[in-house]
Amino acid sequence: MTLAIPFDNSYARLPKRFFTALNPTPVTAPEVLAFNTSLAEELGINTGGLTSTELAKLFSGNEIPDGASPLAQVYAGHQFGNWNPQLGDGRAILLGEIATLKGRVDLQLKGSGPTPYSRMGDGRAALGPVIREYVMSEAMDALGIPTTRALAAVLTGDEVYRETTLPGAVLTRVAASHIRVGTFQFFAAREDTEALSALVTHVIERHYPAVKSVPELLEKMMERQARLIALWMSVGFIHGVMNTDNMTISGETIDYGPCAFMDTYHPDTVFSSIDQFGRYAYAQQPQIGVWNVAQFATCLIPLMEDRDAAIRDFTDIVHRFPEVYQAEWLRLFGQKLGLPALEEPTLVEDLLTLMATDGADFTNTFRRLPHEDARDQFIEREKFDEWKVRWQSMSPDTTLMADVNPVVIPRLHRIEEAIQAGQSGDYSKFEKLLKIVVQPYDPNIENSDWTHPPAEDERVTRTFC
Ligand code: AMP
Ligand code: MG
Ligand code: MG
Repeated sequence: MTLAIPFDNSYARLPKRFFTALNPTPVTAPEVLAFNTSLAEELGINTGGLTSTELAKLFSGNEIPDGASPLAQVYAGHQFGNWNPQLGDGRAILLGEIATLKGRVDLQLKGSGPTPYSRMGDGRAALGPVIREYVMSEAMDALGIPTTRALAAVLTGDEVYRETTLPGAVLTRVAASHIRVGTFQFFAAREDTEALSALVTHVIERHYPAVKSVPELLEKMMERQARLIALWMSVGFIHGVMNTDNMTISGETIDYGPCAFMDTYHPDTVFSSIDQFGRYAYAQQPQIGVWNVAQFATCLIPLMEDRDAAIRDFTDIVHRFPEVYQAEWLRLFGQKLGLPALEEPTLVEDLLTLMATDGADFTNTFRRLPHEDARDQFIEREKFDEWKVRWQSMSPDTTLMADVNPVVIPRLHRIEEAIQAGQSGDYSKFEKLLKIVVQPYDPNIENSDWTHPPAEDERVTRTFC
């Protein structure tokens, strides 16, 4: 039986200099580790009659489904603020796009072999990062946060070499598109206005169909990023590598490398081993959002007839990011406190200050606020009690709180545990963790092992790409 995927590949119809057409490099012994049946159904991919062997061939890149037009996308980007004029899919191949009822999506294989953009890399992915991305992205989706999704994870049967030898895997990523700020930067840096113009048309049609002009595109894109980052903040998520090549134009979270959900709340928290100066720390994320959107704005200026006027207009738009972000932040944190009409941030800020001082657990503090045991998160309990009196006098809606404050997030030590077991051939911990994190508001797991922060010896302090 062959798989019928209703491909319609609009990116492949863009000018040739947008990508390199090439096939994935076959792997030795593909084996399905996970397959997201409900997502497949949503996408109209009917895998019903396929054996696991057939699925493994397709989602490792060993067999190219009918209608696919495999390609690696080119882009550039600022990495930790440093300009890199030439990046691109170094280990990913876009198989093609599917037009679904909810919009067009990319199907991309990640870890599928070298491309002209691999630079020094091997074009492969190790099992650990594939497990991490699968769990993190599915959890983000379950939390209602725009994100790429995971359709499949396939073991390759080949080894990859990092600091040690590790099992290899391929992740099938689903995204509204993989077009990034860095895609625009690639063409802007080359003064290729024709390509920029084609890219703008493509992006508006695909992601912003109501938009009528370039300034409006910038404005809507800015609003999506501001809202996305406010959502990250509301669940204690730290992206870890907010380079411009890791910011999608669609406003979806992408690239789950050294990312993490915080356990203990502190605004300066950084996990990434390569983020020496804390550029991408938790509390830095909104400012980095502004910086990245400013890079996007810069790319659009050559498309405007009056460039001086455009610089003024675009500066104003970029400068409205904090306002959009703060309004969304207040709305989200207001809801977390059961106060959807909260008009100013002091009450939230005061709680966060106490949490930071006393090392309270971010997720559990918000989830347990209406209960007696929230107090246990604090050292200076009288100060918390005073805050709680103020809060309760505002009659919080605890039903709303239970709807918006997750019971469970994919904690780093749980991911680490699933990766360690997976590397020894035991995938049960990954499967179990995945099941738990896609039901983040399930009251049945309240106060269970899944909600516990790491014990001292389980704590993970550094993450790696
Ligand atoms: P990232 O930090 O994940 O956004 O990756 C930055 C760039 O490095 C992208 O162009 C990736 O495609 C490329 N890259 C990362 N890992 C590999 C690898 N193992 N082989 C080839 N290219 C890679
Ligand atoms: Mg990336
Ligand atoms: Mg990455």
